Amino acid sequence: MSYNPLSTLKKVPKIYKRILILKIQGVKIYLRIMKNHLFLLFLLSLYFSVNGQILKKKIPNKMVVLSFDDATASQYTVVAPLLQQYGFRATFFVCEYPTKMPNRSAYMNWQQIRELDKMGFEIANHTRTHRPVNKMTKSQFVDELHYIEAQCDSMGIRKPSNFAYPGYNLNAETLEVLQQQGYQFARAGGSRAYEPLQDSPLLVPSWATNATNKEQIMAALKQAKKGRIVVLTLHGVPDVEHPWVNTPPELFKEYLQYLSDHHYKVIDFRDLEKYIDVKQARQTITPDLNKEYKN
Ligand SMILES: [Zn+2]
Repeated sequence: MSYNPLSTLKKVPKIYKRILILKIQGVKIYLRIMKNHLFLLFLLSLYFSVNGQILKKKIPNKMVVLSFDDATASQYTVVAPLLQQYGFRATFFVCEYPTKMPNRSAYMNWQQIRELDKMGFEIANHTRTHRPVNKMTKSQFVDELHYIEAQCDSMGIRKPSNFAYPGYNLNAETLEVLQQQGYQFARAGGSRAYEPLQDSPLLVPSWATNATNKEQIMAALKQAKKGRIVVLTLHGVPDVEHPWVNTPPELFKEYLQYLSDHHYKVIDFRDLEKYIDVKQARQTITPDLNKEYKN
């Protein structure tokens, strides 16, 4: 004999019985909808759980990462004091750039690099010799990484955890080495915004500034919205040895003033870990090496 819940309600007025029947029917309809859309619900929950895992918190609009390559002397004399004035953070990807200049006068020495670290700026790895890492053997590349790590260690500088590809040269093997060596983010070029739900943390795109591309950079800054992060690559301010990546100090000041006036959040690569779970991103995102990574 099946149990009929309505049989116990004989003395209940008809109107309440009708309401109860309607409620039971409502639940049945709801269950039928659930059954028919179970797969869709499953996909939706999968989508939100995956995205939720990569992002530790929402990427705010107007977030910009500033990065400076090659350890030029002007980064110590011009860039750092200006950044401090504006309260902006930045990553300095350092190397021992081969130079024809006497006394390495166009480049920072390790004492100056240590001072940047003491000021709170991030010191990160750009290899020892600035040669293309995709042309090196695995052990050569590892040696180059370890040299910068050892220099930092001997100077009391925090251990570098992020990397920038010299000349934006990279391949699948270089990504593997960086991962094995415990690097979190690796910056490339490509002149497009970083999308943490699509781009591998070892293939972070950036725009590079020079003396003539102000329009391009201003347009780039406007793309820092809807979960996209704008990463800028700068070299010397000014750059005496490499005029094609020279950013005149006046133009640099204009950028900083614009970022300040428009309330941008200016961070370094280490700060990205507050927003992005690198381990989850690596497990979820397959690095897309078919995209453009040069500037
Ligand atoms: Zn470089």
